[in-house]
Amino acid sequence: MAVNYVCRHCRMPLGSFESWQVPEYRLGLHFLTPDERKRIISYNSNGDVTVRVICEYCSQTLDQYPELSLLSNPLQ
Ligand SMILES: [Zn+2]
Repeated sequence: MAVNYVCRHCRMPLGSFESWQVPEYRLGLHFLTPDERKRIISYNSNGDVTVRVICEYCSQTLDQYPELSLLSNPLQ
């Protein structure tokens, strides 16, 4: 199974790992609360895992226009 990182705003793929290559703590997932894990991580039917993060472009945009973060998909 693979772990795929995508931006949760623009859906840009940010990289993927075969999960056996990277222990969970290296993915930065161990510090998430169970609620956050549910929101950020989704398990696909083929066994892959999708992790929704924010890409550099979107995080810069949100820094410049913080009101956009109130919208669920501001850049679409
Ligand atoms: Zn983005």
